[in-house]
Amino acid sequence: KKRNPGQSEFVQAVQEVAQDVFEFIADKEEYHSAQILRRIAEPDRVVSFRVCWEDDNHNIRVQRGWRVQNNNAIGPYKGGIRFHPSVNESVLKFLAFEQTFKNSLTGLPLGGGKGGSNFNPRGKSDSEVMRFCQSFMTELYRHIGPETDVPAGDIGVGGREIGYMFGQYKRITNRWEGVLTGKALEYGGSQMRPEATGYGAVYFLQNMLKHKDDDVEGKTAVISGSGNVATHAAEQIVQLGGKVLTLSDSGGFINDPDGIDQEKIDWIKHLKNVKRGRISEYVDEFSGATYHEGERPWGVTCDLALPCATQNELNEEEAKSLVSNGVQAVSEGANMPTTLNGVKVFHDAKILYGPGKAANAGGVAVSGLEMSQNAERISWNEERLGDMLTELMQGIHQKCVEYGDDGDGYVDYVKGANIAGFKKVADAMLAFGVV
Ligand code: NDP
Repeated sequence: KKRNPGQSEFVQAVQEVAQDVFEFIADKEEYHSAQILRRIAEPDRVVSFRVCWEDDNHNIRVQRGWRVQNNNAIGPYKGGIRFHPSVNESVLKFLAFEQTFKNSLTGLPLGGGKGGSNFNPRGKSDSEVMRFCQSFMTELYRHIGPETDVPAGDIGVGGREIGYMFGQYKRITNRWEGVLTGKALEYGGSQMRPEATGYGAVYFLQNMLKHKDDDVEGKTAVISGSGNVATHAAEQIVQLGGKVLTLSDSGGFINDPDGIDQEKIDWIKHLKNVKRGRISEYVDEFSGATYHEGERPWGVTCDLALPCATQNELNEEEAKSLVSNGVQAVSEGANMPTTLNGVKVFHDAKILYGPGKAANAGGVAVSGLEMSQNAERISWNEERLGDMLTELMQGIHQKCVEYGDDGDGYVDYVKGANIAGFKKVADAMLAFGVV
């Protein structure tokens, strides 16, 4: 805390990992004396820069941009770019730190990074978003590269923004190279990338349930968010025979007791990606559903909960409410959506709880596969990538069980993910000596 004043999200993320890692390295002197955890918790570098752009009314606007390059021991820095007014250095440092463990867990050669800006895309015209993205890339391009740092999308950065940024990178450098992932199929994107995080979070959930001889079919699910991760998580729950009751945005949540089926999910995708509307509009379209302004969905009775919006969106009280309503499993599509006290509630109740760094790793894993395809100048088909995603999520689940099984059948997935993620990065750092 003293070292990072005012960076509460970053401190929270480090504390959570430190608890498990300290236990793991208690009898391993080599990690202690090399100060490995302290080194991972100090980003390799944090670049902060001015992003200046002109809005449609010819006002000059000034935003701040960042790229946090946390650790590249096992591969080039990799992690998304977030555009949201809540973005600050603490949020990006926490995300880059988490990303380092997540990327290690995938088994692919990917380091950890994260970037973004306090720019708010909501209410901006297409041309304003384009001008902002171009200005952002005009500085960012000098810090990234296919062998150095490969950003992707995150909150507020989808296909449209990636397109504008890739176009600007190409224009400045005169190079076509796989410097961003999450690209559209026409210019080097990968099949399954848009679906990968949400589908992956449900595959992880499926693996946790399978480990207890159970499955998703016939179960009800409460999901937060209505962006890329939430809508694809909902889609996969439906495909596996579950029933999705809720989705949300920062204005509130909708509850549809009839279930949010594929047709309704397609309507929401169009609402969010094309019309750029609000989730409240759902109740005007589909009768029987209710809108709860300013509320989060965790009070709705369900078997499965998937927080897929943002950090710290599920607190201790809400975790207690989920548990008392009989929730059986929680799988995090978002990064650190549950507070530390909320996580404790799930662990004490022995609920299956898959933390974001394991459960949502499918997105970055398919991004890693997008990098491989770009490097080889080939594209794999949907079926092949679907199989690879399924296998990757199985592998991540297995690693969590290996390091997180507490001996009496309960798997502490947080501990499993932290230790498995740490070990690979730490061993690589030991090999490099003091650098
Ligand atoms: P999107 O921008 O597509 O969607 C974000 C959703 O969360 C929107 O519904 C948004 O509502 C809501 N939201 C954002 N901020 C808040 C807030 N402060 N309070 C309440 N709701 C909020 O982002 P993604 O779906 O890509 O990302 C969602 C989460 O998943 C993030 O935590 C991200 O880091 C994580 N993630 C994403 C990956 C990816 O591949 N995209 C990979 C791994 C993790 P509104 O429209 O009102 O802002």
